[in-house]
Amino acid sequence: MSDTALKVADYKSDLKPIWCAGCGDYGVITPFYKALAEIQAQPKDTVIVSGIGCSGRFPYFCNTYGFHGVHGRALPTAAGMKIARPDLEIIAVGGDGDGLGIGGGHIPHVCRKNVNMTYILIDNSIYGLTKGQSSPTSPLNMKSKTAPYAYMEDPLNPLLMFLSYNASFVGRGYGGKPKDLKDLFVQALTHKGFSVLHIFSPCVTMNKQVTFKSMNEIVKPLPEDWDPSNRLAAMEKALDTGTFWTGVVYKDERDTIHERIDQMEERIGQYSGLEELCKKFG
Ligand code: SF4
Repeated sequence: MSDTALKVADYKSDLKPIWCAGCGDYGVITPFYKALAEIQAQPKDTVIVSGIGCSGRFPYFCNTYGFHGVHGRALPTAAGMKIARPDLEIIAVGGDGDGLGIGGGHIPHVCRKNVNMTYILIDNSIYGLTKGQSSPTSPLNMKSKTAPYAYMEDPLNPLLMFLSYNASFVGRGYGGKPKDLKDLFVQALTHKGFSVLHIFSPCVTMNKQVTFKSMNEIVKPLPEDWDPSNRLAAMEKALDTGTFWTGVVYKDERDTIHERIDQMEERIGQYSGLEELCKKFG
């Protein structure tokens, strides 16, 4: 690396993270800075887009461009930016309430368009910033401010959702294992197409049931010989809700929306001669 290479500190903004002491999000942002340094992301060409929630504060803490939008709209905002400015590195960040509740309807469309960007879904199974309501990933029977006796709904399975919608890169990580997260970020950020990382990050203040302790018991890395091209096998791992498998669960190389736009332009170009012919004899 040259002397002018950017260092981890270059990606930290002047504003220090203000999450609660012990929040899992610290274990997410530190490897994120390291990954940006490893790929030498240029701060002037990088935009972090977030919705609302504790993890929605990510753009404030990063020395890049940032856009803190409205609740649940990080994905369409980020996708629009990428489509308008394909030269930029676009990263959307948000929590389970933001991304899977309010913004859940946007997920399939970004996946199927294969927009070349990264989505970091930071899941803590609770609405933390708004003081502890059940979220779309709160487990059945979990108690919360909105479910003082027990939560009566089944949780969503984000990993299975992303695989079902055929995201071209699906990874999973854990805020309690920041060392593994750095490599996962690098792989997601350098993937051609839509990459999504489902990262569990315990909320130590509002969620007393899904904790570092309970997660440590079920987090397990995928086997070393794991084949990430096998989508059906990836779905089986997603359905194994007794284990929180981490690593690159699924990866596929296919055309992005920009490549398809280029191909379309080329095809339209072939018809321009026909247009001239029509004018001549029209
Ligand atoms: Fe983290 Fe929970 Fe505090 Fe939000 S409320 S900063 S998620 S510990």
